Amino acid sequence: MTGSRKLYVKSFGCQMNVYDSQRMADTLAPEGYIETGTAEDADVIILNTCHIREKAAEKVYSEIGRMRRVKETAAAGGRDVLIAVAGCVAQAEGDEIIRRAPAVDLVVGSQNYHRLPDLIARARRDGKAVDTEFPVDDKFEHLAAPSRAATRSRGVSAFVTVQEGCDKFCTFCVVPYTRGAEVSRPAEKIVAEVARLADAGVREITLIGQNVNAYHGMGPAGRVWSLAQLLERVAQVHGIERLRYTTSHPLDMGDDLIAAHCDLPVLMPQLHLPIQSGSDRILAAMNRGHGRAEYLAIVARLLDARPDLALTSDFIVGFPGETEEDFRATLDLVDEIGFSGAFSFKYSPRPGTPGAEMDEQVDEAVKSERLRRLQQAIDDNQARFNRDCVGRTVSVLFERPGRHGGQIVGRSPYLQPVQVEAPSSLIGELAAVTITEAASNSLFGALTQQPALAGAGA
Ligand code: SF4
Repeated sequence: MTGSRKLYVKSFGCQMNVYDSQRMADTLAPEGYIETGTAEDADVIILNTCHIREKAAEKVYSEIGRMRRVKETAAAGGRDVLIAVAGCVAQAEGDEIIRRAPAVDLVVGSQNYHRLPDLIARARRDGKAVDTEFPVDDKFEHLAAPSRAATRSRGVSAFVTVQEGCDKFCTFCVVPYTRGAEVSRPAEKIVAEVARLADAGVREITLIGQNVNAYHGMGPAGRVWSLAQLLERVAQVHGIERLRYTTSHPLDMGDDLIAAHCDLPVLMPQLHLPIQSGSDRILAAMNRGHGRAEYLAIVARLLDARPDLALTSDFIVGFPGETEEDFRATLDLVDEIGFSGAFSFKYSPRPGTPGAEMDEQVDEAVKSERLRRLQQAIDDNQARFNRDCVGRTVSVLFERPGRHGGQIVGRSPYLQPVQVEAPSSLIGELAAVTITEAASNSLFGALTQQPALAGAGA
């Protein structure tokens, strides 16, 4: 190690990428790299990319263009900056990235972050390096754990990856190709990581995976554990007061996982359960493996187990062949379930996926118009859900200072941001808050001595 160097990691996309970005920083920390919030003073720039969203690759190339100018400015001042592209776009495009954007020195696929120190050394030595193989060794075995100081600086809420990859092959999705088959981490490694985080002050853990509820990791005594078994064990870690998991597939909502929503008070009453469309015809074309009725039946069982559960979801509009009638079935489903929030996107074909080859691609203007109507329906439901919270007392986990002096911000059990006038000494703590006002995306409240009705711990 030779003195300290600065590392700038820009993360695109989902929580999996945020988690991976943190692990990359942790892996480079022993090499003397300190994280910086600006690309301009970095020695190594990593763009951790996402392939899910529309025009993902184009966005990455435009960001590389910006970083190229940063690199050129640094070079004019005699400083050598290395640009690395990581994540799903790196996995999908490989050395094509360096061909199209020669300013990039290193391309590293999503399974190989533990090799970053070697790859950076190789890129500095040989000019370029590319590693997008799916390795036989497990990257989790080699990725460094964060230092206590790094954990503290990242706040009281942390993600822990428990599985990667997906075997479902939805016809619109690149994940099975960019992240590979489902792999689950051994339970004891996850529990040890959660214990370390709790020890450093983390109070809320979200177990994450592309298809998290397909978790099937090795448990004690050589038995394979389900996600429900893992949640039960993680709930016992001293100091952990809130648990969540994301993202789930409806087909993997097993009986024991549904029961966990009743049995584990630390499991928050909020679940992200993507459905993508309300039309059986489109669900079949998407290869989701279930229809609308099955989804509604799962939701009913979840609500039996945990009546105060709120659901969020993902939707794609304008999948090939989607008619106005199919789309109306989606709007109808949004109102029937009353989601507390949802992400919605226009379908855009991903090269190499079956959806991209399908006939009856929907006109762009029709997609835009449907997206606008769907987002209005989602916003209306979210606003209604937020308004219904007014007058209720909920537990809030305070995370950071608010925008105005004397205010701090935390999250409700339903992940809503809650702004409260309270001392900053409460940051990192749970407290009961009575909600006094609802805005479209956040709530306002006041500390109270009343016990919280929703969510454990306060
Ligand atoms: S289940 Fe999720 S990650 Fe897997 S293919 Fe379908 S959309 Fe992609």
